[in-house]
Amino acid sequence: MRIPLARPDITEREKQAVAAVMESEQLSIGPQVNGFERAIADYIGTRYAIAVNSGTSGLHLALTALGVGHGDEVITTPFSFIASANAALYERAEPVFADIDERTLCIDPESLQSRITRRTKCILPVDVFGQPAALDEIRSIADDAGIPVLEDACEALGSEYRGVKAGTPIYAQAAVFAFYPNKQITTGEGGMIVTDDDRLAMLCRSMRNQGRGEAGLWLHHERLGYNYRLDELSSALGLAQMARLDEMLTKRDLVARRYSLLLSGVDGITTPYVAAATTRMSWFVYVIRFDPSIDRDSVMLWLHQQGIGCRPYFTPIHLQPFFRRQFGFKEGDFPITERVAQSTLAIPFYNQMTDEEASHVVAALKEAVHLFRRE
Ligand SMILES: *Cc1c(COP(=O)(O)O)cnc(C)c1O
Repeated sequence: MRIPLARPDITEREKQAVAAVMESEQLSIGPQVNGFERAIADYIGTRYAIAVNSGTSGLHLALTALGVGHGDEVITTPFSFIASANAALYERAEPVFADIDERTLCIDPESLQSRITRRTKCILPVDVFGQPAALDEIRSIADDAGIPVLEDACEALGSEYRGVKAGTPIYAQAAVFAFYPNKQITTGEGGMIVTDDDRLAMLCRSMRNQGRGEAGLWLHHERLGYNYRLDELSSALGLAQMARLDEMLTKRDLVARRYSLLLSGVDGITTPYVAAATTRMSWFVYVIRFDPSIDRDSVMLWLHQQGIGCRPYFTPIHLQPFFRRQFGFKEGDFPITERVAQSTLAIPFYNQMTDEEASHVVAALKEAVHLFRRE
């Protein structure tokens, strides 16, 4: 039995929504992008949603709109996907890392606080694997220091923190979601910035569209911009997927519960932790941790040989070759992040996963843990 790490979930209705756009002949800047933006804004409860062509573009625009530029510092986590740190580099700002909370895997507020300097221009927490960061604590640290928060919610569409949705303007000036095929909903490639702030929304809208002004004159450019627009085909897919979001999150929750049940009591494996403040977990990936006595890399290779997709999640950003070279980071700089990164493994996880598939994965894991226990 071959079991992939992730699989998109696309229905006939969604295929038809995309096909209808082709029939309409309006392939960019049209009703689908507006509809998709409205659907996300309504769902999160923000005044504005600005669709872009990736989560990375969204982070870049939001940081730029917040005024982050050359020489500024952006405090973020080294335990994330590379894009959350690269976004600062695009504006020649410096990502400053703070270590994580070993249970939630999100940035540790105390560590974050210790990294604030006069150059700190933004705090960029990441909702890791769908679990919202400690947004309440982070917001109060940020408020005390007079610094805005940009929430990287790319992995957390639908998650709730203390009863409110990840991405809510209660805790962050702006937040970004992403729709790559392994995320909770997909547009192929795509992202969305959400905010309540008029000026941020206006700037992001303009910059995603070549710096055009609000009047929308086609060859009139008021500021440096980009082509970060999301097209109509992708937007139609996203809009149709939004109609099924709750159904999909429920399916993911069932798969996660199934795994946690099957894996409970397996010696050497720890199942994901869900914090009390996470009042709804929108599962992005299902990441287990191995005890130090288990050789994670051998387990991974062996699972691949059995046709089971799996991947270490994440490799710390500060240990990526580019970051080592550029900033001189080395092993030992962020010990909790490194310890976690060496022991985690994402296992197959998708909406359509059957009980049989989950049982097959767990049986293989049990065998692997037995085979690759270090003496
Ligand atoms: C997916 C993701 C992004 C954005 O990725 P894109 O591929 O550019 O859409 C950003 N941050 C995190 C933490 C992510 O998981």
